[in-house]
Amino acid sequence: MLWLAFGPSHAMENQVLVIRIKIPNSGAVDWTVHSGPQLLFRDVLDVIGQVLPEATTTAFEYEDEDGDRITVRSDEEMKAMLSYYYSTVMEQQVNGQLIEPLQIFPRACKPPGERNIHGLKVNTRAGPSQHSSPAVSDSLPSNSLKKSSAELKKILANGQMNEQDIRYRDTLGHGNGGTVYKAYHVPSGKILAVKVIPLDITLELQKQIMSELEILYKCDSSYIIGFYGAFFVENRISICTEFMDGGSLDVYRKIPEHVLGRIAVAVVKGLTYLWSLKILHRDVKPSNMLVNTRGQVKLCDFGVSTQLVNSIAKTYVGTNAYMAPERISGEQYGIHSDVWSLGISFMELALGRFPYPQGCCGDQRL
Ligand code: ATP
Ligand code: MG
Repeated sequence: MLWLAFGPSHAMENQVLVIRIKIPNSGAVDWTVHSGPQLLFRDVLDVIGQVLPEATTTAFEYEDEDGDRITVRSDEEMKAMLSYYYSTVMEQQVNGQLIEPLQIFPRACKPPGERNIHGLKVNTRAGPSQHSSPAVSDSLPSNSLKKSSAELKKILANGQMNEQDIRYRDTLGHGNGGTVYKAYHVPSGKILAVKVIPLDITLELQKQIMSELEILYKCDSSYIIGFYGAFFVENRISICTEFMDGGSLDVYRKIPEHVLGRIAVAVVKGLTYLWSLKILHRDVKPSNMLVNTRGQVKLCDFGVSTQLVNSIAKTYVGTNAYMAPERISGEQYGIHSDVWSLGISFMELALGRFPYPQGCCGDQRL
């Protein structure tokens, strides 16, 4: 077969390619491609993502003439597969046989490795995420989570949230403002996330912050982290919120596009909800996008209290890498500044790295 040495002939290039995506235990889906030889690996993964929205497919396989499975993980391996397939098509044509579609077998991603340290499965199904079935959970079953927030709201209504009732457990992470702990709330027996921020401010300012935080009780969206209450002890404020057992998106690095698409829907819905309450997030970044093993994605750390933001800003040494230029230069800012940060965040999550080179803006300090 002469053409093999030179790649597919023009006749072959113009031919429609049918890819049969085999679905484990349930038949197959045929996909007709009009530009077969130009097909890229990620195009195939995108289509597999639509066929199998719940699986995170990172590779697929095809069978050679001996029935051995060969894995495809890159454009190079795609070319080799297409080259092999077109050679079988030539043979079938020469022998006057029916042209068989190219059969591929999606491969689910490897067991969670270091990147996906929580075994996260983001709900990639359309529709409300509450209906997703729980994946791995190291803490609470889903209905107990629901019960948890209902009970906590009741406790809050009675003004019972205070330091004595909280037992701090693990440290979930350190930010520039403070430290976040996983904590046990004794009266309800539930797990919370408590952010403790040291603040040397007057009693008057403390009261102002508490009243500014009031609006959080009214926030009721499945795309916004649940708020259970806040209190001052000595020179630090503790902010109690819903615990998200998947942590924040910054630890997941490169997230496949079809998963990121669903995450984007949740994040945009969360932001739209905040904007509808005239709240700007002001700190959109992957570490402020939290996930749980029920497949939910929620926003946290939005700047609802101007006084709290100002008080933290006095000692803040964090990065402004995600900040819109108009914010950095001190001009007026608005919804579009949140949108800027959203864009940078999603580029980072899609690429698996910050989109700009170090030294450009990634390491600027306030
Ligand atoms: P910055 O202080 O610049 O905003 P940050 O967002 O990383 O940075 P924190 O908000 O203090 O800092 O959060 C520290 C870490 O704690 C986060 O990266 C996240 O992994 C974890 N975390 C925060 N809130 C929760 C929560 N509700 N449930 C589970 N983990 C959380
Ligand atoms: Mg944060």
